[in-house]
Amino acid sequence: MIASDRSRSQVRSLSLPQWGARDDERSRAAPPPAPQAAQDARRLVDARGRVIEDLRLGVTDRCNLRCAYCLEPGARFLPRERLLTVEELVRLACVVESLGVRRVRLTGGEPTLHPKLPVIIRGIADRTDVEVSLITNGTLADERSLKRWRDAGLGRITFSLDTLRKDRWSSIARAPGSPRRVVEAIRSACAIGLQPVKVNAVLLRGVNDDEATDLADLARELDIEVRFIEYMPLDFGRGWGPDRFVPARETMALVEGRHRLVACERHRASEVARTYAFADGARGRVGFIASVTSPFCGACSRLRITADGMIRPCLFGAAEWDVRDLLRSGADDTLIAGRLLDAAWAKEPGHSIGASGFRQPERSMSAIGG
Ligand code: SAM
Repeated sequence: MIASDRSRSQVRSLSLPQWGARDDERSRAAPPPAPQAAQDARRLVDARGRVIEDLRLGVTDRCNLRCAYCLEPGARFLPRERLLTVEELVRLACVVESLGVRRVRLTGGEPTLHPKLPVIIRGIADRTDVEVSLITNGTLADERSLKRWRDAGLGRITFSLDTLRKDRWSSIARAPGSPRRVVEAIRSACAIGLQPVKVNAVLLRGVNDDEATDLADLARELDIEVRFIEYMPLDFGRGWGPDRFVPARETMALVEGRHRLVACERHRASEVARTYAFADGARGRVGFIASVTSPFCGACSRLRITADGMIRPCLFGAAEWDVRDLLRSGADDTLIAGRLLDAAWAKEPGHSIGASGFRQPERSMSAIGG
């Protein structure tokens, strides 16, 4: 992102987002070694016994939106050569599968901006048995692309959509576009058989918190799951705080004001959303992801690898470790697996949002990979 000290100080003076260690800083970073038994088990587990089965893999740091709770309009992106290549992404997926990962979600930035997204999907689908999924803002997901991704091996898809109101789109996404286009993409995804189709929505107080019920109605209309995610302190603009934050229980009460809900059974302890069906038997579901008010860190099964090849065991953690250096230095899969095993072992116990010692991560959600 930052080519020289001069441009670095310019960036700072403009308060533009900064993230991504310089290459000389990265090369010093390596996680402490996991105990031999953990290395020998060849399973990604952490020191607290949590088993990692889900990888969030960032394919790009670029995004075409500047959502108010995520990225700033002046965001600067990394030079392309610092991003993982298609071959590196596919290789990492193969290595993590050998360590027990069962699901890989492609994320970003906006993953559909990657010109070789179908090649990445096919590469992973052909060479592994992991379930490949995608999270997208849907603005570039027309039916043709969706079919191409499906035919390449994409299983499930999640769209991010925070408003159904055209007049609100630009104040939230801070980019041209319209919710209609995203809703069309969601319909197309359902029509071509991607399963399941989910929608993530972040509600901000005074901005779109009056849309909870309309978004729940979208779930009923399209027979999909709409999940409300609590706004997390992962925004570049550092605007997170009580005035903007809407707790999941409040969102749920809003939805219940229109529709009675019935709790669905949990399939995995690591599921992030508490999901509910509609008591009147309508199709679709709603989910509530209370990452802030009711953290689920104790059952977390996720590991992230950012688009620039840093392993992040915890979304909110300060620690991240380089795997791109190994990929580019001719390391074999055993060495790469060792780095991943070490990083997983060091996974932080959980986040401490709200506690006095909490420090917001330097990267935004967009630079981490949500
Ligand atoms: N561009 C893609 C998209 O929009 O889905 C993938 C990346 S985006 C960072 C992944 C998810 O993170 C989106 O659902 C977005 O709403 C969510 N997200 C971003 N910043 C967030 C924040 N501060 N709090 C809660 N969720 C956030």
